[in-house]
Amino acid sequence: MSYPVVHSPVFRTISDTPYLRGPGVVVLSAPHVDLSGMRPFLIDFGMGFENYLDDPTDLPDCEKLIKVAGQLCYFSFGEKRTKNDQAQAYFDHIKEGGHGSVLEHANISLLLYGVDRATTHEIVRHRAGWGFSQVSQRFVDGKTLRFVERPEFQAHAGLHQLFKERIDRVADEYGRLADVLLTAQKDGLEVLSEEGRTALRKKVNQAARAALTNETEAPIIVTGNLRAVRHKVEMRANKGADLPIRQLAVNILECVRPLAPRIMADHEVESLSDGTVAVNAKFRKV
Ligand SMILES: Cc1cc2nc3c(=O)[nH]c(=O)nc-3n(C[C@H](O)[C@H](O)[C@H](O)COP(=O)(O)OP(=O)(O)OC[C@H]3O[C@@H](n4cnc5c(N)ncnc54)[C@H](O)[C@@H]3O)c2cc1C
Repeated sequence: MSYPVVHSPVFRTISDTPYLRGPGVVVLSAPHVDLSGMRPFLIDFGMGFENYLDDPTDLPDCEKLIKVAGQLCYFSFGEKRTKNDQAQAYFDHIKEGGHGSVLEHANISLLLYGVDRATTHEIVRHRAGWGFSQVSQRFVDGKTLRFVERPEFQAHAGLHQLFKERIDRVADEYGRLADVLLTAQKDGLEVLSEEGRTALRKKVNQAARAALTNETEAPIIVTGNLRAVRHKVEMRANKGADLPIRQLAVNILECVRPLAPRIMADHEVESLSDGTVAVNAKFRKV
């Protein structure tokens, strides 16, 4: 099975500076759950608990994991337990009661690209339940430099033109700054004096990035549990959130919902009068 993807294509200015017009989201990893190893543990109670594993209704892996974690709490493995065909009611009950800790068992990893430095700064403000790995502007040089165009600039010919001129200028300035720094390093400039190729590249890039704007693309891999994913979507797909991060949060919802349809079922995408979309969750901050 391949995981959901929202791709974002690359455009180029007349001077060949690459830019993207929206966030790309790629699901890289999600739980793969196998409950069969529980069978001897369940059999040993002598109460028919092993029948739990033969529920005729299958659930997606994320939901299977969250449900078994929740049902372990009350040893709800017997005949009177909530069966899988009632899983939606089970998960709604958990969300309504704010017992979201069981949602923390399911972790999902996402590659986010077509996101600028300003947007990723907002993403990493969400600390609880998240891990982050982001492209280093100190280590990576100008060869992979790309930019992200805000929706307002895309919608206005004059602003779009200014954007393209600006990123051409910034890419050029970054390159020239790096060249000057490299020459200075070779001439033995004191502030850049440390030896070694990696150290040299870092010293050049970390100084040259001063020329980069907030519009610089900053790809990031994030791993979050479903409780944290829900919170991020609620906060960042909200109509009060900035447009680029709102679009990102909507794309994250689109990618995560197929993996946990019942967990994410209460998120409704609303079309706003300005042509943008926002998401409202029935159960907030579970
Ligand atoms: C529309 C919008 C505008 C914003 N504007 C600004 C701004 O102008 N300036 C600015 O600095 N920030 C701004 N933020 C960021 C905001 O203040 C939060 O930092 C961000 O949304 C992260 O959310 P969170 O605090 O819920 O943390 P998360 O890390 O997502 O944590 C989730 C939940 O876990 C709990 N939690 C996490 N950490 C702790 C802790 N240390 N102690 C106790 N409980 C904890 C809290 O209940 C928290 O809500 C804005 C956010 C939004 C959505």
